[in-house]
Amino acid sequence: MTAQLIDGKALAAQVRAEVAARAAALTAAGRQPALAVILVGDNAASQVYVRNKVAACAHAGIRSIHETCAADLREGELLARIHALNQDPAVHGILVQLPLPPHIDAQRVIEAISPLKDVDGFHVASAGALMVGREGFRPCTPLGCMRMLDHIGMRDLRGRHAVVVGRSNIVGKPLALMLLAANATVTIAHSGTADLAATCREADVLVAAVGRPRLITGAMVKPGAVVLDVGINRLEDGRLCGDVDFETAARVAGWITPVPGGVGPMTIAMLLANTVQACARA
Ligand code: NAP
Repeated sequence: MTAQLIDGKALAAQVRAEVAARAAALTAAGRQPALAVILVGDNAASQVYVRNKVAACAHAGIRSIHETCAADLREGELLARIHALNQDPAVHGILVQLPLPPHIDAQRVIEAISPLKDVDGFHVASAGALMVGREGFRPCTPLGCMRMLDHIGMRDLRGRHAVVVGRSNIVGKPLALMLLAANATVTIAHSGTADLAATCREADVLVAAVGRPRLITGAMVKPGAVVLDVGINRLEDGRLCGDVDFETAARVAGWITPVPGGVGPMTIAMLLANTVQACARA
């Protein structure tokens, strides 16, 4: 079997066009969606991520407020800035780019963001809302994965087994809950899983969110499975690769996402979607 490709770039472009149409309608009604993006310090990768987010906002007709702060910014100053943005009715989403310098407690900073403006979906209130199935912002990468499944006609996963490899708070755990809400039977695998290959081979939907280049090989994929590769790993030669060995896995899977051009582009698209949603709800 040779898998069909899930083209994240094309699907993200579709999501962004939908977002732009909603943003234009809100702007015409006198409420332009706005996202505040705060960067602390000069981490090169973070600078690129922030630049990409700001550019994506501009393309979608979302106003962005981009604030860069010195690496030695005091935690109290950052919290004060977030409180001010929470109070500002013209700002609908607030995002603090992670990682933060070690002297700042990232969780405390995230908890300072109003859950109504928590477009990254990392606030404990957003996590709780996901847990109990209430309205709230869902983290962007898992949301992008669910949108990909929807796109290939797998909105309802009743009768299917989803295996998520990785249990981080930003990808693995929230995605597992979203898959559960879509009626899948869900297994979360991690570094303590006894037989990862056997566990993965049971998956009708297999998601890799680990951060280990090519950990998941074709021999670990059930024939016909949907394989979503969240991993972004930089190889020594500078190229990017996922957590899935694309070449061998694509021979066995029914559907597969590439890296780059798969889950990655969906993440920013879903951030824009959350921001427009925050504006519409405000
Ligand atoms: P993370 O916080 O480092 O978590 C990695 C998870 O993988 C942990 O749960 C860990 O298990 C598990 N793990 C590590 N080695 C393993 C192994 N040999 N077998 C099974 N499980 C293993 O990572 P993350 O933040 O979720 O990110 C994961 C990957 O996704 C990274 O490559 C990251 O760059 C990428 N990512 C991509 C996007 C995107 O937009 N596409 C967004 C976010 C992250 P333990 O919990 O037991 O330690």
